[in-house]
Amino acid sequence: MRLLIAMMKHETNTFSPVPTPLARFGHGPGPLYGEAAVRAYRGTGTGLGAFLDLAAREGAEIVVPIAAGAPPSGPVEDAAYAEITDRICDAVAKGGFDGIMLDLHGAMVTQSLEDGEGEFLKRLRAIAPETPIAVSLDMHANLYDAMIANATVVTGYRTYPHVDTYETAKLAGEILLRAIRGEVRPVMAWRNEPMLPHVMRQGTDDHPNKELQHRCAAMSAEGALAASLFTGFPHADITNAGLSAVVVTDADRKLAEELRDELLGRAWVEREAFVYQLEPLQQSIARARAMPPPAPGEGPIVLLDHCDNCASGGTMDTTAVLAEILRQGLENVAAFAIYDPQAVQQAIAAGIGARVTLSIGGKIAMPAIPAESPPLIVSGTVKTISNGRYKNRGPMARGVEMDMGAAVVLDTGAVDIALISRHVEPSDLNCLLALGIDPMQKRYVMLKSRIHWRAGLGKLASAVVECAGVGVCTSDYDQLQFNRVRRPIYPLDLPNR
Ligand SMILES: [Zn+2]
Repeated sequence: MRLLIAMMKHETNTFSPVPTPLARFGHGPGPLYGEAAVRAYRGTGTGLGAFLDLAAREGAEIVVPIAAGAPPSGPVEDAAYAEITDRICDAVAKGGFDGIMLDLHGAMVTQSLEDGEGEFLKRLRAIAPETPIAVSLDMHANLYDAMIANATVVTGYRTYPHVDTYETAKLAGEILLRAIRGEVRPVMAWRNEPMLPHVMRQGTDDHPNKELQHRCAAMSAEGALAASLFTGFPHADITNAGLSAVVVTDADRKLAEELRDELLGRAWVEREAFVYQLEPLQQSIARARAMPPPAPGEGPIVLLDHCDNCASGGTMDTTAVLAEILRQGLENVAAFAIYDPQAVQQAIAAGIGARVTLSIGGKIAMPAIPAESPPLIVSGTVKTISNGRYKNRGPMARGVEMDMGAAVVLDTGAVDIALISRHVEPSDLNCLLALGIDPMQKRYVMLKSRIHWRAGLGKLASAVVECAGVGVCTSDYDQLQFNRVRRPIYPLDLPNR
């Protein structure tokens, strides 16, 4: 057997000013190709890792033209999209493949296209009309017809934080292998619902997504080869942003449609539970300040700066939450992180132990939102200087090498502020340990994250305070100008907002 395996992942926040050139894909200067991609992902808990394991189990010959994954940001540059898709299409065009396994995100917007994955799959299908294609998607996929019409089987994550990326791809791959052997004939039914669930309300430890995803899993006992409910990515002003479902059955279209409709119906009933209620920032920090300190052995109080999550397209350089922490005088705090390569270089030039005053953050303009984030002037001691590299301990993306670029910790006396040069969401304990910050020794830890921090740090937190700061993944839909998304859509237009 001969399989083509590739990865192309990007969640595009169309409101984000952060550019997405080819260099953003991959942990070094760009994507990984061929053997280098295989070496980096074999044995990891990723979708690509799962496809590689399946191929090895089957004794299949593999071709891996490219593995390209970038942290969320603005629309993908056309040249980057062309490079990634050309590599895969050119490899497929050489022919001789029994199947194609793709680890995609499903919310890629390019400078020219709303539906990057759909256009890519359409092109691939035209090159290889008879070759079965398996696609593994993120729960934040915004689905389009072309993505389903040009694939054989599509599966989506059932957890958020995403700790089942491996299992999701494995499921898609297993179904594909069965289809290649002629054991099943997958058919798919998909549709979307006019709703934009808020990301802060999508966690699968919480109602209602917990129950909805359990229902997806249970459908495998009722004839579904795979059933996926995508909560979607709302920070994209594109026609099909929002919630959707796809169900795969063995040649039973009617059953696929029934199960799909059931999932969408259940989600619609729960639409109010997907709406996020904001608390004013000053009030959140005051509430955190009044909380008793964690008892010995208890973990820190997490202050969640969720409007500026770089894994949702945030610039990671807004300072509103950090400024309020300093203003209200919270003590024994660690803050991860402010993205500011310039401030990092200034601190490195000053050296370990030097006392410096720096202007941090607030350097990237955010024209798509009305709120502003000025730079923050802070004085402190340079406590740590690091190359910013670490390996995820998991459970999310276990074993994957991460790179936050040159990084420093500035100690103000009250707050250890991590300053980094590449966007990394704090979803793994090692991002803090790599900088010499032990969260268990802190009273508070500020994290620029929404849900994924729970994967690696959730168990440590003794309490969580959600802090509505400033950023392009703002939790306030009123700050975002939606022009292209299909209307009406809940909660933008419909009653019970
Ligand atoms: Zn996601």
